[in-house]
Amino acid sequence: MLRILRIPFAVMRAHAEAAYPNECVGAMLGKTGPDGKTVGLAMPLENSAEGSQHAFYQLSNDSLLAADMAARQMGMDMLGIYHSHPDADAYFSETDLKHSCPWYSFVVLSVKSGEYDHSNSWLPDFEQTRAEREELQIAE
Ligand SMILES: [Zn+2]
Repeated sequence: MLRILRIPFAVMRAHAEAAYPNECVGAMLGKTGPDGKTVGLAMPLENSAEGSQHAFYQLSNDSLLAADMAARQMGMDMLGIYHSHPDADAYFSETDLKHSCPWYSFVVLSVKSGEYDHSNSWLPDFEQTRAEREELQIAE
């Protein structure tokens, strides 16, 4: 189960809406406890995809590394990556699967006509052949 606290979720939502009609991407930092993973901080990152970003995002190794370092400095772990789907549902696409890492949670935020619609969290398997839906909770 992935729990996202209200403030980081508001940041993700605002980022997804601001990036519309492009895809946004960011890191989710937090802690893993006995009752699962809790995201305490969302860090918007740069979509470094060349050309159209309407249905594509790319993360540079530099920004991933920076997010990982920031997490450690704050005593947190990098728990996952979020990105948005402009005018599409929050499913996990073939492209998403191809660019996934099995040790992260992947939250997809659906933005329709510029407004946040819904979100899902996905857990890709090690072979990058499928992603299972993870229970997602927005909490205080
Ligand atoms: Zn996607």
